[in-house]
Amino acid sequence: MADAIKKSLLGLERSEFAAFVDEFNEPSYRVQQLFEALYRQRVESLEQVSNLPASLRRAFTERGYSVGAPHIASKFQSLDGTVRYLIACTDGQTVETVWMPEGDGGEAGDGTEAGEETSRRWARATICVSSQIGCAVDCQFCLTALLGVKRNLTAGEIVGQVCAVLRDQRVAPPEDRINLVFMGMGEPFLNYDNCMKAVRLLVEGVGIPESRMTLSTAGIVPRIHDFGAESVRPKLAISLNASNDEMRTRLMPINKKWSLALLLEAARSFPLRPRERLTFEYVLLADVNDSPEHARQVVELVRGVRAKVNLIALNPGPGIAFGTPQADRVLAFQKILVAAGVPAFVRRPRGRDIYAACGQLKRTLEISSTEDGRVQLG
Ligand code: SF4
Repeated sequence: MADAIKKSLLGLERSEFAAFVDEFNEPSYRVQQLFEALYRQRVESLEQVSNLPASLRRAFTERGYSVGAPHIASKFQSLDGTVRYLIACTDGQTVETVWMPEGDGGEAGDGTEAGEETSRRWARATICVSSQIGCAVDCQFCLTALLGVKRNLTAGEIVGQVCAVLRDQRVAPPEDRINLVFMGMGEPFLNYDNCMKAVRLLVEGVGIPESRMTLSTAGIVPRIHDFGAESVRPKLAISLNASNDEMRTRLMPINKKWSLALLLEAARSFPLRPRERLTFEYVLLADVNDSPEHARQVVELVRGVRAKVNLIALNPGPGIAFGTPQADRVLAFQKILVAAGVPAFVRRPRGRDIYAACGQLKRTLEISSTEDGRVQLG
């Protein structure tokens, strides 16, 4: 790991700040000052921590410490209000983070319905963060999979994405209502400890309640059990995407290791809070997993789980060998679920004009910088 990342203060918990402050023989109230400055004020440099003496800020810098805040390398604004950020880490790697004002017209990240009219510019917004650079899970409909996995993000880099977007959008939770989803690049449960540390810092430091966070997994079953036992725990979403094992193994090779039976068993035993529902995400691929028969199989699969299903018509991208189903096919699928008593919501795809599906921006930029721009899937 690069020195710059090792010496970054962003990502430290209070106990780690205490050790850091000790190293400089400073009084313990410096812990709270630093914690507030990094997470609540979201400073970008040590010079901005104005309640520390200049000599102390200099001493931190001389010993190689920095805030370590990632910066926005580029920004793409969609016609629908979605903003897609490419955020640069201190080692020059970039990750995608997405800002979605006003939910997506379907079910909102905090479990309520999006779309009510207010006099504000937006009533709520959702930030979608990445947990890894690239991803090793190899889902066949996902552009991030084509990147392979480069490395895990640190807790500081995960929190840093949120801080960078909040600064850029000039909003501040908890006064501004922000939902957070771990649905960007990467599989959060393959970077479990850093994601859980980031969650704690986002709750305690940044001020986003865990009830407004959702973490999405492709189905790393042992980690679903661990996650259920966490004292600070966001809501859980499971990326289902198939109605039987044969199809799921083809679309999501991880299903070979943890089959639908194991996954659904973990879902059934997941300790939900009162009124909480688990979410199943289901990306609809034209003529692959979107038939009425598939919908009926999904009903059978999720039976006995207090859950809702989010249906997402594939957001097409360069190098993806699947098509987007027609709207009437999506609605017919939803109707079958709803008729069987399974709450199902159609999620409006966001930012299609700026390649807003997971991994699309980074991959699209990489493709456009290769000779012929051709990509083979899988
Ligand atoms: S859908 Fe998620 S888990 Fe699957 S390859 Fe893409 S980033 Fe990884």
